[in-house]
Amino acid sequence: MFVQRTLRQAVKAHATVTSASHYSAKNTELVFGKTFSDNMLTVEWEADKGWGTPQIREYGKLHLDPSAVVFHYSFECFEGMKAYKDKDGKTRLFRPDMNMKRFNNSASRIALPRFEDEELAKLIGEFLKVDDRWIPKGRGYSLYLRPTMIGTQESLGVGASNKALIFVIASPVGPYFPSGFNAVSLLATSDKVRAWPGGTGDAKVGGNYAPCIKPQLDANKEGYQQNLWLFGPDHQVTEVGTMNCFVYWKNEKGGKYLLQNELVTPNLDGSILPGVTRDSILALARQWGDFKVSERKFTMSDLVKADKEGRIIEMFGAGTACIVCPIKKIHYDGIDIHIPLDPSDKTSQAGKLTKRINDAIMDIQYGDVEGPKGWSV
Ligand code: PMP
Repeated sequence: MFVQRTLRQAVKAHATVTSASHYSAKNTELVFGKTFSDNMLTVEWEADKGWGTPQIREYGKLHLDPSAVVFHYSFECFEGMKAYKDKDGKTRLFRPDMNMKRFNNSASRIALPRFEDEELAKLIGEFLKVDDRWIPKGRGYSLYLRPTMIGTQESLGVGASNKALIFVIASPVGPYFPSGFNAVSLLATSDKVRAWPGGTGDAKVGGNYAPCIKPQLDANKEGYQQNLWLFGPDHQVTEVGTMNCFVYWKNEKGGKYLLQNELVTPNLDGSILPGVTRDSILALARQWGDFKVSERKFTMSDLVKADKEGRIIEMFGAGTACIVCPIKKIHYDGIDIHIPLDPSDKTSQAGKLTKRINDAIMDIQYGDVEGPKGWSV
């Protein structure tokens, strides 16, 4: 009978640092995901031993057997989060507990091992101390972190992996919209689906992403930046590209005679990724109390009807990379739905609420405003 070592015990035993130092991040020319910091964090796991000694070591190639299960059956899950420098030069993470929780849920969904959330968060903190100079300064700049877990068992047998590897790499990034918002046009896609009931849409597993690229390229060819992913015969609205989807509109089911402004996003029914940004937007909007906030199913026919009746106010995607991404047009079933932007703003293509949400979240991420407890750590 083997006793597996937990990640906490592994950290206590002897985490090792053999870091390298090459150069520091410059705030110019930061293309997303192209430049990586000097080092990476790695932790190995074996079914009969548990977690091995965490290492912070020079960024470099992984040595894997071609039969490793990650290459054949997509035993891979990942996270996307950012480290920010506040005005006092202190490093901040935005709700890392949510990323750790989701990482564990994703790992469990593909039979990879779990770990103690707070231990990996602490290790990421240690890694950030070593690569501190890679966290670019300035509002809009951050160090994007990519925690990843893969199954590394050397075997073509289809089954749970008896070996796994966590690695965390880091890439400095600049503002998603360097000179004001650019709203995107979407192609509503129903012939291909991103996720389905009982599938893996609520897990951040690599297998969800590759199949979405061909539809994205097809949308690009027709002049649309992203897909609006639909599901089911009633064409439920689910997600926008790799973002959660929000509509701000005048609700049909307001007070008895009065229309009510409502911010709506699809409920977490198992096919929607539980976005950290999504959750944060819902929490802030509920705290503001200025309009109705709903998590529920809605369909393309709801959207088409709202458009005909002039009830759509704004629409946007939400995710860590951009916070919010305004939407200006949706092509669906031969028609174009034009989504309003703020006509009084000549420099930025975004609605008023979209901008308010963006500013509020950024203020908390950069520590300029004290957010809800535990959000900026
Ligand atoms: N949906 C999908 C499919 C995603 O990949 C992501 C992350 N890029 C999101 C939503 C947004 O999640 P988060 O706010 O945690 O970045």
